[in-house]
Amino acid sequence: MRSELYIDGNWVKPLKGGVCEVIDPATEDVVQTIAAATAEDVDVAVRAARRAFDKDGWPKLSGTQRAKYLRAIAKGIRARQAEIARLEVIDNGKPLPEADWDIADAAGCFDFYAGLAEQLDNNPVETIALADDRFTSKAVREPIGVAGAIIPWNYPLLMAAWKVAPALAAGCTVVLKPAELTSLTALELAAVADEAGLPPGVLNIVTGSGSVAGQAIIDHKGVDKLAFTGSGPVGSKIMAAAARDIKRISLELGGKSPFVVFDDADIDEAVEWIMFGIFWNQGQVCSATSRVLVHQKIYERLLSRLVEETGKIRIGNGLEEGVLLGPLVSKRQYDQVVAAIEGARKAGATIACGGTRPEGFDKGYYLRPTVLTDVPLDSAAWVEEIFGPVVCIRPFESEEEAIELANDSRFGLAAAVMSKDDSRAERVAAAFRAGIVWINCSQPTFTEAPWGGYKESGIGRELGRWGLENYLETKQITKYVTDKPW
Ligand code: NAD
Repeated sequence: MRSELYIDGNWVKPLKGGVCEVIDPATEDVVQTIAAATAEDVDVAVRAARRAFDKDGWPKLSGTQRAKYLRAIAKGIRARQAEIARLEVIDNGKPLPEADWDIADAAGCFDFYAGLAEQLDNNPVETIALADDRFTSKAVREPIGVAGAIIPWNYPLLMAAWKVAPALAAGCTVVLKPAELTSLTALELAAVADEAGLPPGVLNIVTGSGSVAGQAIIDHKGVDKLAFTGSGPVGSKIMAAAARDIKRISLELGGKSPFVVFDDADIDEAVEWIMFGIFWNQGQVCSATSRVLVHQKIYERLLSRLVEETGKIRIGNGLEEGVLLGPLVSKRQYDQVVAAIEGARKAGATIACGGTRPEGFDKGYYLRPTVLTDVPLDSAAWVEEIFGPVVCIRPFESEEEAIELANDSRFGLAAAVMSKDDSRAERVAAAFRAGIVWINCSQPTFTEAPWGGYKESGIGRELGRWGLENYLETKQITKYVTDKPW
């Protein structure tokens, strides 16, 4: 396991020597310490990224040349997939098959953006048709510069890939700060990039706290663009910091996503997707469909099947075979989710199942998957993101009511609808005020498709060609092409 900072192609100790503890959430053991960077380390990293961008020529390479590095990184991740997936489980708690899936996805993300980097070479210039024929004009795309990327703990390597891959493909250089709870696989990414021969300064990884290392990145004048995934309150701070220096930003924030199930849906299938939508990754998923709305005709039957199936979920250490639900990421997260459940109960909600620690676990941040009913619409449990394995479920009577309830949120990240009537499903999908809509499923995520939220769920889109746009500027070049005097 790596523990130092990766700056300018070197593994270095933090200048002030601070450390953060790495705690395995399944055992509560401190498994190692990692460097806690301060503003001084961030400054060295940003200067290295600036030099790599301004002088060393990373943005001057062709897209095809940059793509070679991206493909080598993808290959390097795959070569060590099993080892990196294990690290992810120890750091984050998620079941090993989920971690394995994430690591494969991260490698796929580097390959995907290698393809888009190559396409930049084929189609770099757009000619603009001007009404005035004394001029010709073209638009070219250029990388923004140094990107400061700050990511959360729920998908540690995958979130790093979602930012680093498009940034490097576009020709930006990067200073990445992983979440202090889960930095191990980002450090492995640095090791893989180093082995792939990525030039010094192109990718720098600084570990450490948000309030010190993260804040130093967002405040640094040498950073041109901030890319953030995390909570709303920190997103606001980032937007404020970006406003000061007119930095470009993209924000992927929280959600309270609805899942509407109509009475013609297959109940067993719906239960499966509902469980996938809220219990995957212990519910610590920004797009988790945490508010389930079920047509009253099937509500009671669906609820009893959901409670029955939820009770069968095997809980345990993510490294054990057959485990479907691991511990929450940290003591703090566990306490917050338990407090949210208690708050819901006090507000009048009924705990249909879960809500407590599973029996037989003395250590680890384990929580039984929880189904809440009768949750008041104005209670925190219905309105606020819980970010744990907790679903609120309620009946509805009409399509209009379902859409109104679904959209009645300050968030707008994702939404799902299930119905055998395709025109109804399409109608509801069109009515949702959310950036990602699933029909007859919940959560499938594709590197090729845009990802991001409406309303307070964020600004901008990651993934697909939209992810590359986040790291590109547009330059207009206009030429005077006539002999006639102006
Ligand atoms: P967080 O906002 O506390 O932390 C995210 C990152 O920001 C961490 O690296 C942290 O160190 C850093 N940070 C904290 N304070 C900072 C500051 N002042 N300046 C700069 N950086 C700072 O969020 P979290 O607890 O790590 O993650 C959970 C939240 O993230 C949830 O609310 C969830 O919805 C959201 N999330 C959203 C998405 C998405 O795609 N929209 C994905 C994952 C998580």
